[in-house]
Amino acid sequence: MKDNKEGEKGGLSDLTAEKKTNEIKSGSPAKETRRSTVQKTLIMRTLREMNCHASAGMVYEEIHKNYPDISRATVFRMLANAAEDGDLLRLKLAEADDRFDITTHPHCHITCRRCGYVCDIETPDDLPRRLVGLVDDAGGFKVEKYHLELMGVCPDCAAKEAASAADGQYSETTAPDKQSV
Ligand SMILES: [Zn+2]
Ligand SMILES: [Zn+2]
Repeated sequence: MKDNKEGEKGGLSDLTAEKKTNEIKSGSPAKETRRSTVQKTLIMRTLREMNCHASAGMVYEEIHKNYPDISRATVFRMLANAAEDGDLLRLKLAEADDRFDITTHPHCHITCRRCGYVCDIETPDDLPRRLVGLVDDAGGFKVEKYHLELMGVCPDCAAKEAASAADGQYSETTAPDKQSV
């Protein structure tokens, strides 16, 4: 039986039908594949719209608002699979949860040490080659992949810190994001 509804409405009914299908175990490979494709499309679109190098948990929270039946495990698994397939980048950051990046060409990042916001840094095309050349010269390492992450404070957090300092009230209790860093 083919569901002719395409697009968002079809996607929603497909997703909400997930539990029922699992119970029935109808075992239709075509339907399984189609649901997976719909879910993956939704997850990739959400990640793109969030445009913030979201963690798997952040993507799940966003999807959950409109599609409460899609499970956390499904979102986590599909993001991990998409990263393995090269459809997105999985960033392993120094001081934050892994983030997923819709931009897959090699590029650098800067992470806010206060709020965890991750921002792209576009670098000259030849920077990776020059970096690799430096490593080759220094230690004879064979470089297989790289990820350059800078740490800093984002403009919003810098403004908050400046405002707090100006008030003379900056303290542990007035650092709002401290626990999440
Ligand atoms: Zn920040
Ligand atoms: Zn990025």
